[in-house]
Amino acid sequence: MASTTTTETGGSNFVRDIILDDLKTGKYQGRVHTRFPPEPNGYLHIGHAKSICLNFGLAAEFGGKCNLRFDDTNPEKEETEYVDSIMENIRWLGFDWEDRLYYASDYFEQLYEWAVQLIKAGKAYVCDLSAEEVRQYRGTLTEPGRESPYRNRAVEDNLDLFERMRAGEFPDGTRTLRSKIDMASPNLNMRDPVMYRILHAEHHRTGDKWCIYPMYDFTHGQSDSIEKITHSICTLEFEDHRPLYDWYVEQLGIYHPQQIEFDRLNLTYTVLSKRKLLTLVQEGFVRGWDDPRMPTLAGIRRRGYTPEAIRNFCASIGVSKTNGILDLSLLEHFVREDLNKRAPRVMAVLRPLRVVIDNYPEGRAETLEAVNNPEDASMGTRQVPFSRVLYIEQEDFREDPPKQYFRLAPGREVRLRYGYFITCTGVVKDEKTGEVVELHCTYDPATRGGNAPDGRKVKSTIHWVSAAQAVDAEVRIYDNLFDRANPNEEGVVFTTFLNPKSLEVVPNAKLEPSLAGAAPLDRYQFERLGYFCADLDSTAAKPVFNRTAALRDTWAKIEKRAKE
Ligand code: ATP
Ligand code: MG
Repeated sequence: MASTTTTETGGSNFVRDIILDDLKTGKYQGRVHTRFPPEPNGYLHIGHAKSICLNFGLAAEFGGKCNLRFDDTNPEKEETEYVDSIMENIRWLGFDWEDRLYYASDYFEQLYEWAVQLIKAGKAYVCDLSAEEVRQYRGTLTEPGRESPYRNRAVEDNLDLFERMRAGEFPDGTRTLRSKIDMASPNLNMRDPVMYRILHAEHHRTGDKWCIYPMYDFTHGQSDSIEKITHSICTLEFEDHRPLYDWYVEQLGIYHPQQIEFDRLNLTYTVLSKRKLLTLVQEGFVRGWDDPRMPTLAGIRRRGYTPEAIRNFCASIGVSKTNGILDLSLLEHFVREDLNKRAPRVMAVLRPLRVVIDNYPEGRAETLEAVNNPEDASMGTRQVPFSRVLYIEQEDFREDPPKQYFRLAPGREVRLRYGYFITCTGVVKDEKTGEVVELHCTYDPATRGGNAPDGRKVKSTIHWVSAAQAVDAEVRIYDNLFDRANPNEEGVVFTTFLNPKSLEVVPNAKLEPSLAGAAPLDRYQFERLGYFCADLDSTAAKPVFNRTAALRDTWAKIEKRAKE
């Protein structure tokens, strides 16, 4: 992990070092121009945030520019809904592409001309092998491939056939345009890779203008080149594609950006493949792309994460040249750290147990002063109503308290947060089930504000909500979406590892009245329970809150243990 986090990109890292070097040697005349190139075939996830922070962050640090470019060469999987959500999520994270919004599909005509140029130069040919045959001819890592019988077609024939491919004369999959490189190359990507395929599919931007579409490899480098990108930063799986990236721009004789690869983000208990995330949505395992259990930016946002927490997380993890898997608790650590400073504290009872203060006068009401955030005095105080009937958390009472249990029990005195000392004097049970349904207590009027004038101590402080003014709410408690640290295990359907307890709906929570006006995505700390935010479904008539994170910080514990 980087020791200093001066920038979005986590201070120094090898990508930054390459840029610093290029600035020194004047390789790109002092320019730094990056791009973030999502394919609009799904929503962005936390892995993309790493790439966004890196690309936009480096550009900002060096006074450069970062483009947003949709890499939309696959019409069957791409949709406008995804384009819109991607733009919204990048803005939410806090980055701005200004007027530099591009689409690879805008370059289709230019790419076609470049393909013709390669055909004329004898560097590309139309191949009639089927997809399956192309695979068979390709060979393996240990065996060279075989040359296609169509490899030596005359340039004239290739030009004619490619034009007719574009004109729509041939059905899908019957022909491809391939580059003529080297069927014996140790790099499989260099064994006459396909440049164009026939696909009679409607594209979300170009409609039915095209029925041939360029492959990713024939699109990406040239798109970078057109946009005069200096550093084309992508993930490690493209390392083997770099020779092809370089081959195309060199053969075409066009401006040559530099591709640099870094490690993908992987998190425990999480899947970060858009294909898998799409399965979760389509098969109804989650409530949508923005389900708060999803690792999508839309989901994480709805869960209550702040953009700052995500950016701090991305800065802290740095970038490297080896793929690993990070502990999910590290991400949670950053949201706690941020919300601890910013989220006002309030009292809410998730599983209410009714408490009647027998010696508190009926009909009397008073308000008590509560601190909004002990971490930040400027957040001030608020008044919380107190009355004869309250709710406390069911788990804050035990009829037969075990040894280390210091909360409320028959005959025991505890402190109500910001309130009085109370002593439990009676327990009412459901006759049939034996369940405790109500407590009777007395309070000591002299302990208002939480201290006894005679100096007597209590061993615990519990939270509470006054019944008459309580706001009823639904609270959604989330756990990891998967119950396996690595749900991406080969050979097993990943949904096998879904955690059946990833969502618990608490239907009848009681909130202090200041929460009545909470707007969707307003964030709070519910004292003693965790960080919560109002859900997008929340209305004044039916408030709904999501638990963003519990208070317990596993990551801080791991770190502490490591230091000991
Ligand atoms: P997926 O495998 O999830 O479908 P992808 O790589 O196909 O992802 P793109 O839309 O092509 O998704 O990604 C846009 C950019 O984000 C690419 O430069 C890609 O390398 C980067 N990216 C995608 N996933 C991650 C990740 N887990 N960590 C870091 N960067 C990522
Ligand atoms: Mg991709």
